[in-house]
Amino acid sequence: MSDRAPGDLELVRLFVNTLELETGDDDLSDPAALQSWLEDHGFVHGGAAASTDLDAAKRLREALRSLLAENAGSVIRKEAAETLGAAADRARLVLRFDPHGGVRLEPGAAGITGALGRLVAIGAGAMADGTWTRLKACRAEDCRWAFYDHARNRSRQWCSMAVCGNRTKARSYRRRHAA
Ligand SMILES: [Zn+2]
Repeated sequence: MSDRAPGDLELVRLFVNTLELETGDDDLSDPAALQSWLEDHGFVHGGAAASTDLDAAKRLREALRSLLAENAGSVIRKEAAETLGAAADRARLVLRFDPHGGVRLEPGAAGITGALGRLVAIGAGAMADGTWTRLKACRAEDCRWAFYDHARNRSRQWCSMAVCGNRTKARSYRRRHAA
């Protein structure tokens, strides 16, 4: 089963998954690592991230994870929505209309601030087109891996990583074999 999200929403999923909570492995370990991740994924071309950028990126990452956990049925922290709003403000997200009747959010700010704003804009676009609620963070507190729920009934709560897949299997095994 694929965990990948459609279109640009996959970038949000990959961003959240730059930190593996269970092991502590963090692809955004320092400002240079943040810079190259954003370059590798087409958000920025050149420049250098500062340590304040790294702080902002990590705050945004956990805010997004918190919203994705809510999509999987967990209780959200109130600050998460505020963090996304603040990132949108800093990036000066504006509406861009095209002549064919389309509209999208784009950051007015450049660099890392603009890149983080673009991640928020992708999330907002997904909320508008209905794909957002399928992007979830695994219910297991020590996992919280981001995955896209392709199930017709949108019922998935655990990711398909080996450990959580086994957890799910163990649970249904227990259910099947209960008294
Ligand atoms: Zn998981």
